[in-house]
Amino acid sequence: MDAPSYNHPSNQAINALLVVALFACLATGTIWVWRTLVIAEQQQSEKLLQQETQILARQIETHFTYQSNALQRFAQRWEQYHQQRTLWYRDADRLLHDFDNLQAIEWLDTSHQLRWIRPLAGNEQAIDFRYPADHPNIPFVARSREQGRPILSSHFELVQGGRGLAYYVPLYRQTEAGRQFDGHLIAIFRVEQLIDSLLRRLPVEHMSLMISDGSQPIFQRKRADTLDSPNQVQTRVQLGDNNNFILHTYPSRELQQRHSTAVPMTTLVSGLLASLLLCYALWLALLDLHRLRALQDSNRALQSEIARRQQTEEVLQTSQSRLRLILDMTDYSHDALFILSLDPLEIVYMNRTCWTSIGYSGEQLREIIAISPEDVMPGAKKWLQALQQLVIHSDSAIYQRQVRTRTGRLIPLEISVRHMNRLGRDYLICVGRNNRQQLEATAQLERLTQLDGLTGLFNRRHFDTALVSEWRRLQRQQLPLGLLMVDVDYFKHYNDSLGHQAGDDALRQLGHALQLHVGREGERVCRYGGEEFALLLPGADLQQCRKVAELIHEAVREMNIQHAATPTNRMTVSIGVACTIPGADRQPEGLLGAADRALYQAKAAGRNCSASAELVS
Ligand code: GH3
Ligand code: MG
Ligand code: MG
Repeated sequence: MDAPSYNHPSNQAINALLVVALFACLATGTIWVWRTLVIAEQQQSEKLLQQETQILARQIETHFTYQSNALQRFAQRWEQYHQQRTLWYRDADRLLHDFDNLQAIEWLDTSHQLRWIRPLAGNEQAIDFRYPADHPNIPFVARSREQGRPILSSHFELVQGGRGLAYYVPLYRQTEAGRQFDGHLIAIFRVEQLIDSLLRRLPVEHMSLMISDGSQPIFQRKRADTLDSPNQVQTRVQLGDNNNFILHTYPSRELQQRHSTAVPMTTLVSGLLASLLLCYALWLALLDLHRLRALQDSNRALQSEIARRQQTEEVLQTSQSRLRLILDMTDYSHDALFILSLDPLEIVYMNRTCWTSIGYSGEQLREIIAISPEDVMPGAKKWLQALQQLVIHSDSAIYQRQVRTRTGRLIPLEISVRHMNRLGRDYLICVGRNNRQQLEATAQLERLTQLDGLTGLFNRRHFDTALVSEWRRLQRQQLPLGLLMVDVDYFKHYNDSLGHQAGDDALRQLGHALQLHVGREGERVCRYGGEEFALLLPGADLQQCRKVAELIHEAVREMNIQHAATPTNRMTVSIGVACTIPGADRQPEGLLGAADRALYQAKAAGRNCSASAELVS
């Protein structure tokens, strides 16, 4: 089974996903810390702004108090100045000069009529102006008189245009009846100029601010880099016993930057960088781990490959030694084993028996086969051609060949050949065996199948074959073929009277006697069946055949075998003689028939004689 691959794309993808997830967590954490630091800085900034705003409010109040004190001190001199107007005007003008935010200084008498105004220029219309009952400042006037304290009014529209504020300071004069209220000293401020002067020399450049009278803005100074309103800070400013005024401050970007530090950004950048580096290092470590495991895998595979090869080598060595053993053993085989490769002819292998059995050394035999194979195997070239056919049909066959020994003796060899194809090349595996004994046994057997067991003569089977072959041979040579059919007369009686065993003996004697009368080449005596014999006489004409028949009668007489059933009391035979020159228009059976008929004639003629027939075409 294969080991799991650590470099599998899906594993790498999972690792990459884990590293990215880790980076995302670390980055989120870093961003959270950065955001917390930024919010903390913002809160700190807002706190500082709040403190600054309160300080600013108190400073504005202080500045206004300084100015209102001057006006109160001026009002306290009403007692002594109210009749010396020149002195009063001079001090009023000095006040107007000292405080450039003052629009005018007026006296409002107890009947709410403006009795005088400094400076008069531009304010002529207001002289002798009487506050109507619904004048918006009437409540302030009344409260100031009631409480005996100065009070700053809400804003109002100035006759000259723009917004204004009136500071009402109650005036008192000592009369005989005691201290008497004598109207109000009014200091008219232009809102813009008043607040400008109050803010002068105060550190407000870095912030935007607005002052509202209740909910209505009356002064505004905004920087271009003012931040959104949610960051605004507000605090009440009490001016001239009027606490309706609210100071709104807005942080500017510059202020925020002044209060902010590099810590959040440094934390963010260093955190992200550290996360990135950590994840990168982790990724590299994972890659290294993968490489290490892949290396271990390949090492394991290599080791198993080495083990497998060692095993294969051992198997190979074992099989090689076995092959050597087998080849050695084939050398001790009685059979000649050789492997041929055709086209080109090559002896791939020969066992020892191949050369020792014919008296050569291996090298000598190889040399002879290469130069003249016919010397060791007559007809070798023809046989090799036959082997080519065997290869074509991928067959196996058994051949009977002869090999010549070094001394010139021929040894019969039965060669079993089998075709094989290995790796695209044709081979013939040949096993040769000296089958002399087998051939001889076969020949003996063959002979026995052709002989008659009782008489030792050729049997009917041999006769049939010999008749046909001699017929053909003599037909070619146009020579006569003679046939004698010899039959024992009254043999049944012989058997019946003397016994079957005696009959057998008589038949054996007769066969021997007949055998003595054939001697020429091709002549043979066959036991045709029972007590009937056939003599095949190639080349003998009818006369010669009759001569042989006479000699047979003579021989039978000489045998002098007692036979009571014959006229002569001796065993006799009847012979049918036939002769012909074999021709294409006749068959051997014709000759046999003629001999049979002649025998029948001899029997009919009284037996112990011959009759002949000559077949003429
Ligand atoms: P013919 O003169 O007409 O030939 O009379 P025959 O008695 O010889 O004729 P037949 O053919 O009737 O008898 C042949 C006899 O030969 C019959 C048989 O008993 C005998 N016989 C055939 N074969 C053998 C054998 O192998 N051994 C013995 N002992 N007798 C045989
Ligand atoms: Mg017979
Ligand atoms: Mg007979």
